[in-house]
Amino acid sequence: MTTHTTRMLILGSGPAGLSAAIYGARAGMKPILVQGIQPGGQLTTTTDVENYPGFRNVIQGPWLMEEMAAQAEHVGTTLVYDTIVEVDLSQRPFRLVGDGGDVYLGDVLIVATGAQAKWLGLDSEEAMKGKGVSACATCDGFFYRGKKVAVIGGGNTAVEEALYLTNHSDDVTLIHRRDSLRAEKILQDRLFANPKIRVVWNKEVRNFYGAGKPEALTTLELADTKTGQISSLAADGAFVAIGHHPATELFRGHLKLDDDGYIEVEKGSTKTSVAGVFACGDVMDKIYRQAITAAGTGCMAALDAERFLAEADFEKLAEAAE
Ligand code: FAD
Ligand code: NAP
Repeated sequence: MTTHTTRMLILGSGPAGLSAAIYGARAGMKPILVQGIQPGGQLTTTTDVENYPGFRNVIQGPWLMEEMAAQAEHVGTTLVYDTIVEVDLSQRPFRLVGDGGDVYLGDVLIVATGAQAKWLGLDSEEAMKGKGVSACATCDGFFYRGKKVAVIGGGNTAVEEALYLTNHSDDVTLIHRRDSLRAEKILQDRLFANPKIRVVWNKEVRNFYGAGKPEALTTLELADTKTGQISSLAADGAFVAIGHHPATELFRGHLKLDDDGYIEVEKGSTKTSVAGVFACGDVMDKIYRQAITAAGTGCMAALDAERFLAEADFEKLAEAAE
């Protein structure tokens, strides 16, 4: 068991955490950044990124995140492969514990733990995960070359996943519970123009059925959200793309969260309900949820943290914590 001590401790290696690290390191804070189970964050699960400024040609999500990590290290961040499982924000410095028992002590803490895929919550979905049901078309789409696939959802992720799957399949069905999509217009235009994709409106998935040995997905049972009528759709692969949960369970009872579980921050800043703890990226932002906004709030968190370190009376804070 090792104890790691730093002025600036950062949780999360997505665009928010890595941007905070770049700013923190350049201010001489020698940050330690704990990467979690998904080094690079959500963008490592996608391919084409064409809305991150600075690149005239389309870039790849995993490549962008590798570059950000290399930049953070280059300017003086220590990147650690660990996942935090315990936090104590009542003592100063803050004390966090990794899943192997390592202890992390930080004068300030920047939380950039992002978000995780949401599932429909069906028993048959759980049973069929890895047997045809997935939450990542860019990871698993390749396995369904020339087969029938379905995507569930109506946001940017669902539309992008449906478009991506047309690289592998000529038979892609997008299933959405309403009669209009939430996705950006440019993506909708591409979707509707693609002859390999059809959209099934006003339907929700009731069950996933499999057959064979080893068992593999064959059919989705659908219910019409207006009439209740049941129908079925043949599919070899189904991709659930209905959004994400903020990764904040660790902070329940320690930081103020909103009704949806996002970390609450003071308006116009990244300050949380505990002085010296800052939050950035998707973990505190349910409106924009973009790489560029995550990076922007990561920068804000580092600047807020630097200001706090320069101004805070640590003796008083330690006394107040006792
Ligand atoms: P995340 O990227 O979610 O990173 C969270 C980090 O926290 C991870 O590294 C994880 O390992 C770590 N972590 C979690 N828990 C712990 C813990 N307990 N201890 C330590 N670390 C922990 N946005 C765009 O701008 N353009 C796009 O083209 C685009 N495409 C997308 C495609 C897909 C399929 C998806 C799902 C999202 C896409 N987005 C896109 C949105 C974008 O990826 C997110 O807005 C962005 O990644 C959020 O960054 P983040 O740093 O807040 O969190
Ligand atoms: P999202 O925008 O929250 O959309 C989720 C979709 O799933 C909605 O259409 C929703 O339906 C549907 N849904 C939710 N729960 C459902 C359920 N239980 N059953 C059936 N359908 C359900 O999530 P997202 O598409 O993952 O996008 C997340 C964020 O990342 C967004 O801010 C998005 O802009 C961003 N993102 C950006 C890009 C890009 O810029 N290229 C790409 C991907 C993601 P309703 O519409 O009926 O609510």
